[in-house]
Amino acid sequence: MTQFGTFSYFKQVAISILLILLCTCQTGNIGASSRQLEIEAIESIKLTVLYTNDEHGWMEGIEEGRGAASLFQQWQAQEGFTKDGPFLVLSGGDNWTGPAISTWVEGESMVEVMNAMNYDASAIGNHEFDFGLDTLAVRTKQANFPYLSANATWKGTGSYPLELGILPFTVKAVAGLNVAIIGLSTTETATTTMPSVVAPLVFNEYAQALRKVMPSVKKADPDLIIVISHVCMDELRVLAGEVADLNIAMMGAGHCNELVAEKIGDTLVLGGGYHFSSYAKAVIDYDVKSAAVIGSSFTTHENSIGLEDNAVADIVAQWKSLSAGTLAENLGFSARDWERSGEQLRQAIVNSWLEFDVTADVAITNAGGIRSSISAGEINLGSVVSMLPFNNTIIATQISGRVLRTVLEEGGRPVFAGLTKVGGEWLVGRTGKALAEDGLYRVLINSFMYDGGDGFGMVAEFDPDGFDTQANYREPFVQWLRKLNTSASNPLILD
Ligand SMILES: [Zn+2]
Repeated sequence: MTQFGTFSYFKQVAISILLILLCTCQTGNIGASSRQLEIEAIESIKLTVLYTNDEHGWMEGIEEGRGAASLFQQWQAQEGFTKDGPFLVLSGGDNWTGPAISTWVEGESMVEVMNAMNYDASAIGNHEFDFGLDTLAVRTKQANFPYLSANATWKGTGSYPLELGILPFTVKAVAGLNVAIIGLSTTETATTTMPSVVAPLVFNEYAQALRKVMPSVKKADPDLIIVISHVCMDELRVLAGEVADLNIAMMGAGHCNELVAEKIGDTLVLGGGYHFSSYAKAVIDYDVKSAAVIGSSFTTHENSIGLEDNAVADIVAQWKSLSAGTLAENLGFSARDWERSGEQLRQAIVNSWLEFDVTADVAITNAGGIRSSISAGEINLGSVVSMLPFNNTIIATQISGRVLRTVLEEGGRPVFAGLTKVGGEWLVGRTGKALAEDGLYRVLINSFMYDGGDGFGMVAEFDPDGFDTQANYREPFVQWLRKLNTSASNPLILD
């Protein structure tokens, strides 16, 4: 906020006070205690941290006027943010995968937006791996800020994946303070992005990783230590207690989309919400003389200003028009919204797979791979890319009835078509017969699940030679929509 001013402001005031002191010493008119108070007031530096996480490509906002341009405008207008001011802008990760405007260009547009918003660092989220390690390495280069994870290491060597542009920590000089910022990634990363992509990496236990990196951090002689993480609040609260001795001033969360600001022991813990719809803020009052935090405040805020920063708005508009040509392709029309979690939309997606491969008995996808709803109005390719944004392909497998039953009944409630349960027994739609434990079935499954994502490793264990159709998991739905040829007078009906 503006009342905190900038470091140069502090310096100027400090010099003025010094001059006053020199004068008053000669005349001896001002009491020592009031002079002391004035010095202490000047020598405390207030650092403001603005924190978001799980942005997921939502630069346009979850609704009109709540996107990246508005958030950045709000930071300037309401928090007094300036590029060289006493601010840190930090993210808890999962920046890229989401609406077509970001997914279609594999996150490149989001990096540009976050550069323009002056982010200082982002944690590495599980979804930062969605487009592969090569793309990740390109994106970390494009970013004007570092991507951080102190608990991601290469299997085998145990070294940090610096080749990917992932650093364990960074040190930032801000408002006259040296602030060390350490990153953490969720230990769930191994199964919450394409498992084969992250197979060369290990995501180590958090407290252990922090203790391991701390000697290197300390060498940089930081005034403050901050941890930004793609770790949910329930785990972070425990971690804050476990590492209370490490003198961490602030921790930021991610992965669970939580909007929260609280204090655990001496550590502020923030969660910024999701999709740029909100942010969390910490103001850390640091006393230079005693080299200690002497006060703090922590709050959460909605992105509600409704005005846009022009520079960020221009970048968003440019990316929108770049992708508009291909993504604007009209695929149909819906007279109503179809909810992302609704049974009708889910069924339509997997049913389209069975039309795509009529020899398949069953189609299975994960509910988490369906990311947004279909809104009333024109449906274009962009809306389907936003709904099914991952680079997952469809794998055709041969698995036994026993494995199939395990997938459906113990595998975290997947979305499936081709089977119905009648009186406690599974019936295969294609044959009309009961599912045989030892029978073999042609099952289509998305590559994330086939890879062992979300704990579905049993499919590849049974059939390690699954055939990759190379068709993106959204492709059958796109083809099906085109074929339906819906319009305003003949809108889409899902039943
Ligand atoms: Zn995540």
